[in-house]
Amino acid sequence: MASIALQGVAKTYPGKEAQYILRDVGFTIEDGEFVVLVGPSGCGKSTLLRMIAGLEEISAGEIGIAGERVNETPPAKRGLAMVFQSYALYAHMTVFDNIAFGLKLARVPKAEIKASVQAVAKMLQMEHLLERRPPQLSGGQRQRVAIGRAIVRKPRAFLFDEPLSNLDAALRADMRVEIARLHKSLGATMVYVTHDQVEAMTLADRIVVLGPSGVQQIGAPMHLYHKPANVFVAGFIGSPKMNLMPGQLDAAGRLRIGAACLDWRAPAPADGGGIGNVNANGSAGAGAPAQLTVGIRPEHLQADPNGAIEGEVLLVERLGAESYVHLAVPALDKPLMVVVQEDPPEAGTRWRVSPVAGRVHVFGPDGCRIEAAPHENNSAGASSGVAEVA
Ligand code: ADP
Ligand code: MG
Repeated sequence: MASIALQGVAKTYPGKEAQYILRDVGFTIEDGEFVVLVGPSGCGKSTLLRMIAGLEEISAGEIGIAGERVNETPPAKRGLAMVFQSYALYAHMTVFDNIAFGLKLARVPKAEIKASVQAVAKMLQMEHLLERRPPQLSGGQRQRVAIGRAIVRKPRAFLFDEPLSNLDAALRADMRVEIARLHKSLGATMVYVTHDQVEAMTLADRIVVLGPSGVQQIGAPMHLYHKPANVFVAGFIGSPKMNLMPGQLDAAGRLRIGAACLDWRAPAPADGGGIGNVNANGSAGAGAPAQLTVGIRPEHLQADPNGAIEGEVLLVERLGAESYVHLAVPALDKPLMVVVQEDPPEAGTRWRVSPVAGRVHVFGPDGCRIEAAPHENNSAGASSGVAEVA
């Protein structure tokens, strides 16, 4: 197994000289790590993976595998195995021959091939399928064959490009577990591309979020969930999506959305921490208050008779274990989404909610995260996001 290091990697296509698909991408995938590249369609995920594999030239930068520069190394010599969304199996060959194909090409002795294929088939629970051909298999079984074909080659790292996108939801969930199990048992370096943030959250040791302007944030799944670095990551990671709404700081440094005052305080200017962005627009002095973006996850809003945020319940989606409440708040263009575990309110009624303490995210005019002042509390006694029962 091996680490994979990217340094200043860029991609432009000829004829689009000024247009970078990717620019200045740099991060290291540690030996044995499971890294997921996640982002919306068209942001360059497949391109990046194909550049690692050597299937696509890089326009700038350097790619290293196990500490060795591979910019000029052809794909076959990089020791990586790639699994595609489309499976790319030979329809006329049996499962056995599909899995064995790479080993045959490499002139591995027959007995050894047989042992390897059988070991992999056992690992993937498809020993009974070895004599079938791909058209006689379900989508999930085909994808398992494609994964098996990658495993027998004993690659230095696995590259997956949206391997589960062609499967139905139930099968996707099963295969996700299987891939996680595989990563554990092989201890392999894996780079996994998906547009599905649920796959990213559940599989990754670390996630690389790609957006329209390249890498947005790199971190452990729960770090991205708790501390999204910017509005893009905040809106992309988490399901249902984080509520994002405009907010302002009042003269006392308190955060308001519309009439509601939330329990969040801007850091003092000396703290650094992004406050420069806030004051840049004059919130400390006379001028117009800085336009901030406030983010609150649906699961971090709770029913609260004294809550700062009031609105009308537009719609309740009952999912069983929980319900999604759509709350129209006068100051906001878009209804707020609130996840409720039990007893959702009735549509058409008025309802008050407040954010769970410490779960309000604030982003500056540049879209970057601003940390709340330390020891935040609502000592001022003003109406706040936290219940204060008289
Ligand atoms: P993703 O996998 O994230 O959906 P891709 O890596 O496939 O995105 O594509 C990234 C961008 O590169 C897209 O805007 C796509 O149109 C563009 N692109 C891909 N291949 C080529 C090519 N051969 N020539 C020009 N542009 C391309
Ligand atoms: Mg793609």
